[in-house]
Amino acid sequence: MVSRVIPVEAFDLVIFGGTGDLAGRKILPALFRRYCAGQLPEGSRILGAARADLDRAGYADFARAAIREHAPGRHCEDGSLEAFLKRLDYVAVDACGESGWAALAGRLAGGDRVRAFYFSVGPGLFGDLAQRLRRHGLAGADSRIVVEKPFGHDLESARALNATLAAQFDEGQIYRIDHYLGKETVQNLMAVRFGNMLFEPLWNSQYVDHIQITVAETVGVGGRGEYYDRAGAMRDMMQNHLMQLLCLIAMEPPAKFEPDEVRDEKVKVIKALDPVAPHHIVRGQYEAREGDAEAHPSYREAVDDPRSTTESYVALKAHVSNWRWAGTPFYLRTGKRLVARSSVINVVFKDAPHSIFGAEAGRHANVLSIRLQPNEGITLRVTIKEPGPGGMRLVDVPLDMSFAEALGPEGEDPPDAYERLIMDGIRGNQTLFMRGDEVEAAWAWTDPIIAGWQARGEAPKPYDSGSTGPRDADLLMERDGRKWRGINP
Ligand code: NAD
Repeated sequence: MVSRVIPVEAFDLVIFGGTGDLAGRKILPALFRRYCAGQLPEGSRILGAARADLDRAGYADFARAAIREHAPGRHCEDGSLEAFLKRLDYVAVDACGESGWAALAGRLAGGDRVRAFYFSVGPGLFGDLAQRLRRHGLAGADSRIVVEKPFGHDLESARALNATLAAQFDEGQIYRIDHYLGKETVQNLMAVRFGNMLFEPLWNSQYVDHIQITVAETVGVGGRGEYYDRAGAMRDMMQNHLMQLLCLIAMEPPAKFEPDEVRDEKVKVIKALDPVAPHHIVRGQYEAREGDAEAHPSYREAVDDPRSTTESYVALKAHVSNWRWAGTPFYLRTGKRLVARSSVINVVFKDAPHSIFGAEAGRHANVLSIRLQPNEGITLRVTIKEPGPGGMRLVDVPLDMSFAEALGPEGEDPPDAYERLIMDGIRGNQTLFMRGDEVEAAWAWTDPIIAGWQARGEAPKPYDSGSTGPRDADLLMERDGRKWRGINP
């Protein structure tokens, strides 16, 4: 099935931080793919803006190398890459000073059109950029800003950041990225829930035993050690990505698939979360891989702090205290240097209330697994009879749907989250972006958890690189008579 490309009018996109890691790995490759899909209309202007002293040709060289590395070209012939690069321009701009702004204004002169400013710089620069955009008359009613994570370090800093941006832009012009929301499967979660009659009647504590959300990474902190050691898994992953997945799983059906309708329902979920009891949280920190400590050093070596107590893993049991979910726990876990890269949501249904086949036939709970990566898709485990003679024995088998197989043109990857989010930003659709109050509500839930660790002086539990995480995380489940699923591919 060939995906439908919705045309957009010519637009301007300025990428502040256009020479950075994120621009090279995600933003420019995403724009190139959209170009290949016919979604960058003639006359659109894409400008990199950063500190480096580059000219147009120098920026094209940066973009060419980045796209060749991160979007190896099977979607476009090499000639198209060169045609795409001709669309790019570059201005050296200082976010904190006055240099470059007049030149930027000159490049953007003329053209009554949507103008998007992507803030792919550290959050410390958001306020400076927002002010200068206004002061130099670059942002009008049809302008929007796209801001990257992390959005704050805690509730207080998130509030301050919201206030800084709100001083220059309306909430309707602020697009806070959580790239998890741009993933195909995450939106499919809403399609599956609200486009089918099959699931929604069962989507509550009467039928759902519990829900597991796992976001496991095989990588360590890599080059992000300095940032990560100040953040940890709770701030870097749980407060945003896992929280967003929890919201989409737990929210009530919005009346319409419209930005504020969807976000209103998500905020209600976050506000319904109970505080998490200390014995319902496990923190972990990875050790070096045995026999391979050079390639896979311990967390503490990676961040160059032998006494660091920052967690690279967190697992917790959360409760959404509302009519629908009272009594159904949500188990969330995320960590680095785990056995496999896997993001999956498992909705584990209750056992059938009575087995007509007797205890010896066996019993299996239905599980709906929503895989975000790798191999995006959905699996429903259903119980059937084991084939062959010899009585009635039950087994559970997967009804499996891989999105790539079912929907993609042969050999083609589904669009990257950044492709969708950038184009939604251009179209002015905020549904998949976080609203200010949503981010603040998530911090309001997260802050006491982190404050509790600090007050108790708790150190994270060590776990082996390449494992499924600390043993205590298994115990968190086992104490409730349950077990984690889905980290192994
Ligand atoms: P980076 O350090 O690689 O790049 C920073 C960019 O900002 C460079 O282009 C630099 O020239 C520009 N810059 C810095 N100071 C400037 C100034 N005073 N004026 C103008 N430009 C200036 O950073 P990155 O990894 O690309 O991250 C950018 C943002 O995206 C950060 O907020 C980061 O937290 C976020 N983010 C990054 C990733 C990632 O994978 N790299 C993932 C998620 C979020």
